Amino acid sequence: MRLVLLGPPGAGKGTQAQALAALWGIPQIASGDLLRAAVREDSELGREAAGYMECGHLVPDELVLKLIAERLQKKDARGGFILDGFPRNVMQAERLAVGLERVGLKLDKVVAVMLPDEEVVKRISGRRTCEDCAAMYHVVFEPPAKAGVCDKCGGELYQRADDAEETVRERIKVYEAATRPLLDHYGRLGLLAKVDGVGRTDEVEKRILAALDGLAIPSQAGAGVGLARS
Ligand code: ADP
Ligand code: ADP
Ligand code: ZN
Repeated sequence: MRLVLLGPPGAGKGTQAQALAALWGIPQIASGDLLRAAVREDSELGREAAGYMECGHLVPDELVLKLIAERLQKKDARGGFILDGFPRNVMQAERLAVGLERVGLKLDKVVAVMLPDEEVVKRISGRRTCEDCAAMYHVVFEPPAKAGVCDKCGGELYQRADDAEETVRERIKVYEAATRPLLDHYGRLGLLAKVDGVGRTDEVEKRILAALDGLAIPSQAGAGVGLARS
């Protein structure tokens, strides 16, 4: 299965990607997680990306493409992957398609998780993220057993700096301008399925699985993917 999860910030992409990754035994590849790891490591790429992330803008394509390409080359992604937060604009989508095509692969499906803006703000304002394993919680909707501590790994939960309300509004604007056009893009390619993101996590997961229909089987091993400019 080679799947892209699209949707506004806070729609539940990460939550669903983690559930599906566990179900299928293929990796979740989240561009936001990769970027935050680069920032934490204080790598050159991380230092370049940090300012964009802080104000809710997209990080330049070349930086994100580099991280994603490196991640897709890893062995565990050969049997399939779930992309979460990437691609974020048409340029990234085109580079991904070309990179896959070069090794004889293509996406199986793009699922857009739809959520109204008011819900987006509610979900993001209560989001807590594990420092160690990037698992997601919500102070009201998905609280951990012990406040501030990850159920899965015991790591500390923190609130992302870009989850402050003002930055969230900016991220929604960026989604509308840069990312929403991907719905038409993938619609034209016949790859898109829209799924209602309102409701419990398990209900949304069922809708995604229904939208994938007969597709929900991890694909066979393939070659590594490169996203270098041609
Ligand atoms: P959310 O899960 O709330 O949508 P992410 O964790 O995916 O947020 O992204 C956090 C930030 O990282 C974004 O606001 C943006 O600055 C940067 N980012 C993540 N993915 C991409 C991408 N594919 N292209 C450019 N910037 C990205
Ligand atoms: P995204 O990756 O799209 O930004 P997340 O998966 O991080 O979204 O979810 C945002 C917040 O909403 C998190 O705090 C998460 O625990 C919570 N959440 C996710 N799915 C649901 C749901 N179906 N119902 C209620 N809260 C949810
Ligand atoms: Zn954890």
